[in-house]
Amino acid sequence: MPTLLLTAHDCVGHVHLIIGSNSIANARCAKSLEVGAIPIVIAPQDAEVHYALKDKIDAGHVQRCTAAFHDEDLTRWGRDEVDNIVDAVFVTLGGKESMATRTHISTLCRRLRIPVNVLDSPNLCTFSLPSTHSDGPLQIGITTSGKGCKLATRIRREIASLLPPNFGSTVERLGTIRRRIWEEDYRSNQALEDHSAVPENEDDDVAAQRPTFNQLVSESDHAAAKTRRIRWLSQICEYWPLRRLASITDADIDAILQSYNTTSQSVASNSTSNTPPLDISTLEIRARPQPRIILAGSGPGSPSLLTLATHRAILRATVILADKLVPSAILDLIPRRTPLHIARKFPGNAEAAQNELLTLGLEALQNGHTVLRLKQGDPYIYGRGSEEFAWFEERGYRPIVLPGITSALSAPLFAQVPATSRGVSDQVLVCTGTGRKGKAPEPPVYNDSMTVVFLMALHRIGELVGSLVAPPSSSPTLRQEELQKGGGEDTKFVVNGGGWPEDTPCAVVERASCSDQRVIRSTLQFVVQAVEAEGSRPPGLLVLGKACEVLKRRGGARWVVEEGFDGFEGLDDGMGLPGGGGEMTEMFAERAREKGTM
Ligand code: SAH
Repeated sequence: MPTLLLTAHDCVGHVHLIIGSNSIANARCAKSLEVGAIPIVIAPQDAEVHYALKDKIDAGHVQRCTAAFHDEDLTRWGRDEVDNIVDAVFVTLGGKESMATRTHISTLCRRLRIPVNVLDSPNLCTFSLPSTHSDGPLQIGITTSGKGCKLATRIRREIASLLPPNFGSTVERLGTIRRRIWEEDYRSNQALEDHSAVPENEDDDVAAQRPTFNQLVSESDHAAAKTRRIRWLSQICEYWPLRRLASITDADIDAILQSYNTTSQSVASNSTSNTPPLDISTLEIRARPQPRIILAGSGPGSPSLLTLATHRAILRATVILADKLVPSAILDLIPRRTPLHIARKFPGNAEAAQNELLTLGLEALQNGHTVLRLKQGDPYIYGRGSEEFAWFEERGYRPIVLPGITSALSAPLFAQVPATSRGVSDQVLVCTGTGRKGKAPEPPVYNDSMTVVFLMALHRIGELVGSLVAPPSSSPTLRQEELQKGGGEDTKFVVNGGGWPEDTPCAVVERASCSDQRVIRSTLQFVVQAVEAEGSRPPGLLVLGKACEVLKRRGGARWVVEEGFDGFEGLDDGMGLPGGGGEMTEMFAERAREKGTM
């Protein structure tokens, strides 16, 4: 197939004959209506009509001729001024049976010089419809000259995504200013009987500029000065980044038109008219990002587990507010110029620290900053992320939320515990070991094929394990601490046991993905003893279930301790991982120590 000539037709008032009544016929009708043409559908009485097409017909937007196609249709339904010959024909009939009809219509149309498009038959078409992106006056048409319509659609999508949003309205605005300048210049030039301001070629396809495009205009050069406004417009269209052009407003256009006066008198007398009414620096300021807040998860610890989106946000933010738990290797990625506030949380102060951070964030937003609220793991997994979202949204700043790799799923992975594993575990439960206001939540009921991950639980592991192994059906027992307090309102609070067997394998995973990662493998029976003996290295979590023994076994030991992190071994060089894993790998040394025997 030769290269096709892409054209843009003015179809207002044209008659488009659409032969067939299927979904394609409906799409063709919609397109015809969109461009101001009059679609007429030819489909016999008994033909099945696509529901959306039927709606258009019922609403009177589309006319229907309830008969099979007749040759005279081509010369009967058209406009009077073209002797009733229709302006274009779309044949949407499919299938082998209609081949003869399609060929016949195509031949007839060619003879009458009516542009014809036949569905799925490139050799019967005299024109094809490109895949189009339409945004107001801006249209982008892609054709692969029949080589692949799916590919054309993909190319069109990719090209359209490169444009600033709603660029059609920018095109509209620039078109308005261009027309008004020409109208005014033309009027004033006519008054002076000077026709030097010849309109530019209207054809979008003239790529080359005239030799005078960049010509220097002196103040005394009155002839050139008269065309200065239009030349200024041509130059900004040529040189300015599209993002900047997109920030021109209607008010700017009025300012441009008012500040330049094109009569020779005012050109000579108005010395300020040499300054463009809107220079790029004005738009630079406007194109600068608006104040915004990003709520992002930083992953479990290693900078290599940051998403690219969060890494970018770290580099671009102008103020960063970080959780206390965000590890220093990630904070090290923050450019030195960017102010960083770390939550000043310490026991008993959580609420005040949280409020302080939120207030700082709001103040920064009010001062036009791009604020990054950096949270550990994933922002919506036990991080009060949703509360922060709502808090900022209520104050007029809707956060952009970026996910992070949660410790709940990655810490087990780095401890070689597959959260699900065929035949062993088919579900995962993520829960907290600390309820609201420090109360103990109900333990999950024993399930042989479930992996349970407890966050925020190690500081009260004794109590947690006690409730997990207690029988579920036992009569509710008062919580120990409430009893010790001597009752009161809290004594109503009761906990049922989870019924988990004491030999259920579990693992305590601490500082997952950091160079000082530690894993303690044990069972419910010995894990409390293990934590007491080994001490704690926060943050850490407890994983429970048979999945803990799929890849690694404890052997006969009551518990086993593994130190260090080698999760990125061999990937850190040449992979460009932010922060690298190299230093961690060097520091990695597995020192498995066995503690006692069963
Ligand atoms: N939003 C976070 C969790 C915040 S709650 C996330 O998605 O990971 C804080 C708890 O997360 C800690 O008490 C601990 O249980 C767990 N945690 C966070 N980082 C961890 C890590 N690197 N290793 C093990 N547990 C971690």
